[in-house]
Amino acid sequence: MEPAVSIVIPAYNEEEALPLLLEKLDSVIRSLPHPSEVVVVDDGSRDRTPQILKEAVKRYPWLRVFILRRNFGQSAALTCGIENARGKVIVTLDADLQNDPEDIPRLLEKIEEGYDVVSGWRRERRDPFLSRRLPSRLANWLIGRITGVKIHDYGCTLKAYRREVIQGIPIYGELHRFIPVLTDLRGAMITEIPVRHHPRRFGKSKYGISRTYRVLLDLFLMFFFQRFATRPLHFFGLVGLVLSALGFSIELYLSFLKLVYHQSIGQRPLLLLGALLLITGVNLLGTGLLAELLVRTYYEGSGRKIYSVRERLP
Ligand code: UDP
Ligand code: MG
Repeated sequence: MEPAVSIVIPAYNEEEALPLLLEKLDSVIRSLPHPSEVVVVDDGSRDRTPQILKEAVKRYPWLRVFILRRNFGQSAALTCGIENARGKVIVTLDADLQNDPEDIPRLLEKIEEGYDVVSGWRRERRDPFLSRRLPSRLANWLIGRITGVKIHDYGCTLKAYRREVIQGIPIYGELHRFIPVLTDLRGAMITEIPVRHHPRRFGKSKYGISRTYRVLLDLFLMFFFQRFATRPLHFFGLVGLVLSALGFSIELYLSFLKLVYHQSIGQRPLLLLGALLLITGVNLLGTGLLAELLVRTYYEGSGRKIYSVRERLP
């Protein structure tokens, strides 16, 4: 029988947290009205995580395990779990027990209300302030401003998704932080509810403050995707046109000085600036054309659609 809900959990060196996590999941799954499964993806752990999972499969009939050949990163591990999930609703969860599996039924209730994405919000977050909560506050605010997807807690992995809006979304690099934005690109209805949060009792965080610049770059990528994913020429072309127009005007002006007033222009910095602007501008236009070809190859070669249907009647 197909499960109704799939709980997807990436795990990297989480041997200490896993036994308790599985125990908690067991009671949650028993309490759910529909049959459910848990998909744990071992992301190339170097501790006893895979052994523990192999043992657990014998004990828990709802457990399915994927063991990756090496550490591919949280995004890749999540993608593996999501692709292999069979439920109509997919819940993502960290393995470290900072989120509480007991919040899952409340997320599912919201999905039943009709939302496509229900995001967990760690309102009382139990992490260090300076190194975690403050940067994350700023990041959430900035992401909300730039993408228009205003949820409080992008970093919280505990989220529930209707399968149609998340399956097939390519979560490259570290884009797992931006899954709500990626689903928004498909027109998902998104909401959030407060969830519990606990201090990390086992193991340690896999990320440090160095993620800041990666989040910023990914945010720029989201900005680009949201507006120009199917028309990159409009982005590159606009910048290209402005720059080449500026460069062209400058060179025109200098030619005028040279030809009409016979002034020498060879030593003028303006000459260099004009040439630079022209070259850059024309280059950007070319980049835009190339990007257009890439976009077409991307959609047509993969069979992806540039639209997403919510309902079909009758
Ligand atoms: N994780 C993973 N592969 C990695 C890094 C992390 O599967 O390369 C998992 C990790 O086991 C945890 C989740 O992703 O279940 C989130 O990681 P972590 O708790 O270290 O991140 P934080 O909560 O500190 O942002
Ligand atoms: Mg964590």
